[in-house]
Amino acid sequence: MNPLPAAPADTTHDTGGIGGHPRGLTTLFFTEMWERFSYYGMRAILMLFMVKTAAEGGLGFDTKKAAAIYGTYTMSVYLLSILGGFIADNFIGARRAMVAGGIIIATGHFTMATGSIPAFYTGLVLIAIGTGLLKPNISTMVGSLYSEEDGRRDAGFSIFYMGINIGAFLSPLVTGYLAQSEGWRAQLASWGLNPVQSWHWGFGAAGVGMTLGLLVYVRQRERLAHVGNAPAPEPGSHGRPWGKLGLVALGSVALIGAMKLSDTYPAVILVLFALQIGAILFFGFRPDPDSKRMAAILVFFFAAQIFWAIFEQTGSSITLFADNLTDNTAFGQPFPSSWWQSVNSAWVILLAPLFAWLWIKLGPRQPSSPMKFTLGLLFVALSFVLMVPAAKLTAEGKVSPLWLVGLYFLQTTGEMLLSPVGLSTMTRLAPQRLVGLVMGIWFLASALGSKLAGVIAGEFKSDNPAELASFFWQQALWVGAATVALFALVPWVKRLMGGVR
Ligand code: GLN
Repeated sequence: MNPLPAAPADTTHDTGGIGGHPRGLTTLFFTEMWERFSYYGMRAILMLFMVKTAAEGGLGFDTKKAAAIYGTYTMSVYLLSILGGFIADNFIGARRAMVAGGIIIATGHFTMATGSIPAFYTGLVLIAIGTGLLKPNISTMVGSLYSEEDGRRDAGFSIFYMGINIGAFLSPLVTGYLAQSEGWRAQLASWGLNPVQSWHWGFGAAGVGMTLGLLVYVRQRERLAHVGNAPAPEPGSHGRPWGKLGLVALGSVALIGAMKLSDTYPAVILVLFALQIGAILFFGFRPDPDSKRMAAILVFFFAAQIFWAIFEQTGSSITLFADNLTDNTAFGQPFPSSWWQSVNSAWVILLAPLFAWLWIKLGPRQPSSPMKFTLGLLFVALSFVLMVPAAKLTAEGKVSPLWLVGLYFLQTTGEMLLSPVGLSTMTRLAPQRLVGLVMGIWFLASALGSKLAGVIAGEFKSDNPAELASFFWQQALWVGAATVALFALVPWVKRLMGGVR
């Protein structure tokens, strides 16, 4: 494919978009909003669809199997970002990768909507591949709208994060209503359709969301014609790096395979932890600044992976808690259990402006990024401490919805301290030639954390309050220990980071 001509327009002076940002940001905002609508909408009903009996329209899997599939799927989505980033950087550019990804994602959702088991698995694989192509590259394109000196860059990313969460907030409401509500099932029956097929309407709605995202992009694509172009082949090289592509693809598949082994042999996870700690020590005690920075990146990686291992249980164990053990009514009205998955995003929409204000207000007095990570871990540990009494109370029947509202408040506070901070710290710590790789490492932390979350959620049991309380307490203790360890390491990590805050 021929690279497109170089940038015709300079977006630095374009203030026609949201909040005085380039108009391209508005397009990316809505495209990503709809992509996340499809991702989180499908995810909101995925676990429930797998564990419900065939009579209820589900697949009838047990919790362990369903959580393992859920974990492998959410892991693959983030893990394939490395491959997606590589394909964009070396072959087709971010813009085409994003469009190809969107088409593959929509195809995946519609495949799932058709209903057979092979279609279910094919759909999951397509969505994972498509998201790997779209997700890292749309983020890169946001960055490309601003010059290095443009003061609007960080705010641009915050606006973009808002788009993500508006999509993630709205979609479980839609897919959850279609999949689970009595009202919609009655509607299907009145049309002479099978009401237990309601799940497939939910999957279909996710596909419609992604299609809308693609339409937004296609209509407004000229605003982005100058960013995310395909790279010119390196002078003196023999065309595209097909060999390296093969290696990255093979490596990704091998890593997914190795992590899948943890379904049967949980010791794989301990080996992985040991390797990470070994790498931190190896780089941390080398004399050159680049190695030291790499050690800092790996500490952040380690902490982020633990954070996501708790946080990413939203769609698995916490959804089961919501479905089986929570009184899902608001203002006297019942609502579908999948709606809980909107609550994290609702908190993001409420809390993000508060954090933006706080960081501006604190200015140079704000905590360092390793300290923010420590606080992030603390909050996610506290969220599971909160669930201990909630679990005990399930002995007396379904518990108040306020427990889960509290859980999501604490988790979202942790997310605000870790997720956006992580993104910007990674880009600043990475040596220039390795930015893409370091971004990939960042998403790898989400990938491994998601898989870990699936492994842990496989142990979730609704029918024994004491065991359930210990399920949450043990995880809180482990994360608490990691929080203390990271707190002790803050001064060392700051030294490793050199001048970067
Ligand atoms: N909620 C954010 C998103 O969907 C971050 C998720 C993650 O990195 N695990 O983009």
